[in-house]
Amino acid sequence: MTENENLKLDNIKKRLIVMSGKGGVGKSTVAVNLAVELAERGFKVGLLDVDVHGPSVPKLLGLENQKVGTSPSGMVKPVFYSENLKVISVGFLIDREDSAVIWRGPMKYNAIKQFLTDVDWENLDYLVIDSPPGTGDEPLAVCQLLSGNSEAVIVTTPQDLALSDVLKSITFCEKVGIPVKGIIENMSGLECPHCGKNIDLFKSGGGRKISEDRGKTYLGEIPIEMDMVHRGDDGRPFMKKSSKDKSKAAKAFSAIVDVIIS
Ligand code: ADP
Repeated sequence: MTENENLKLDNIKKRLIVMSGKGGVGKSTVAVNLAVELAERGFKVGLLDVDVHGPSVPKLLGLENQKVGTSPSGMVKPVFYSENLKVISVGFLIDREDSAVIWRGPMKYNAIKQFLTDVDWENLDYLVIDSPPGTGDEPLAVCQLLSGNSEAVIVTTPQDLALSDVLKSITFCEKVGIPVKGIIENMSGLECPHCGKNIDLFKSGGGRKISEDRGKTYLGEIPIEMDMVHRGDDGRPFMKKSSKDKSKAAKAFSAIVDVIIS
């Protein structure tokens, strides 16, 4: 892998790389809903799922059976979720849900490079990239390939076990020269469905503290919402217009997006 092999992607104004130190903290959920919300606000958005071994984006958007097309110029055509949101995922390239992609580092690098250069993204305001957890081949490839106008959004849950890995993500971004846009604390508190009281299931406040300690922007917190699991499984993002009015998480997330685009 050549270091500093940066691609110039002039037709993509801003790139947001969504990262996490650990799996299961809601990184893909955040990436998908960030892309959906930006598209709903009128931006032209691309969503690139580079989680080669566990692509969740097709399921989270209800696009499981979609396949990518080819444009007359031979470029790969992304799948359209809506007029403003185009999507590419390794999930669109594999035939069966239980297929496993077994690729070594250089193959992943080349695949990600193709996703960035051989896809007909056209003009985008934002490319949101859902990167696998940790600091392995895929985030490294994304960060090395994208030059300028790229920022990382780091997702964590509040407990110490997750936070220690956030520090690694911050150090990783500093080493590869990607500025950290900010940190989101997901699964921050749960409103008891019976008495309405807040329960800090995974503690709370850790995301804000780590942001302050490391001099990064704290983007805000998203509560646990039981409905969110069903929405994820059913491919109905919580930031979709039809669903976002009722949800506390959606209101919290909307405020986070205000900060991201400010
Ligand atoms: P990751 O990409 O970090 O592995 P996912 O986005 O796949 O995590 O989320 C893991 C699970 O947690 C999914 O079932 C998702 O629906 C659920 N989830 C994510 N955020 C929340 C939340 N705030 N409240 C409830 N469930 C959530």
